[in-house]
Amino acid sequence: MATRIPITMCHGTSDQGEFPLPRLHLTTLVGIAAELGFTSIDYDGLAAWRDGSGDLPEHPIMFDFDHPVTTMLEVREVLGEAGFAGNLFVNSGPMAPENVSPDTLTWAQISELVESGWHIGAHTVTHPNLSALVAEDPQGEKLQWELETCDQEIEKELGIKPRDFAFTGTSWSSVAEKKVMERYRFGRLWIVGSEYQADGDKIRYAELVGVEGEDEADGGPPMAARYITANTPPYRLPSMEFQAPLIHEASAFRAYLEGALD
Ligand SMILES: [Zn+2]
Repeated sequence: MATRIPITMCHGTSDQGEFPLPRLHLTTLVGIAAELGFTSIDYDGLAAWRDGSGDLPEHPIMFDFDHPVTTMLEVREVLGEAGFAGNLFVNSGPMAPENVSPDTLTWAQISELVESGWHIGAHTVTHPNLSALVAEDPQGEKLQWELETCDQEIEKELGIKPRDFAFTGTSWSSVAEKKVMERYRFGRLWIVGSEYQADGDKIRYAELVGVEGEDEADGGPPMAARYITANTPPYRLPSMEFQAPLIHEASAFRAYLEGALD
């Protein structure tokens, strides 16, 4: 079978919501990936494989995270105990001095993640709904400010020029993708179900990423849309949310990973 790379997403650990992800449950899920022999990779490894300059480990996986929240320190421990590292996409707004809260990582703490092998990407400043933003910002000027300012903050504070971008929420626009393509190497989406918002309208996720077939009985897009392959559009990469029904249960997550091993 052609290479399929599983990719997970969450916003740190959480006791909240219908599908909570406390440390213990994250430890269980991460342990399944370790047991099945997966090795975590970052976006540099993904890029090297796709451009032919590097090889993947036998069973690659990506652990993505969005937002600079302090529970990421707990996530680092859980991943680190299993020999994994994550990819963190930072929206810089919460890091501004006037917005600082005890729930927000400091730049020094993000530097510690980098020292642990974590990869840093960009996630705008104010986290706009990109699909809705099109109506008020058709030329993408506000969006351009969001991307430039986030990049500048990350480069100033961490000395890292972000090359990878995570779209906000389940919102996408063609203007945003065009701007993202001008600045970054990859753009990553977020799968919590089968639907997406694109250019102000509802759309099936599968349609957005050009994967054929019906949505699955679990309420998510076709299985083929849930992994990164050699053919996945680089600015429409998937990621599977841990705190949504598709992979929250240990058995569902195991089945997702096994789908990359066939
Ligand atoms: Zn976000």
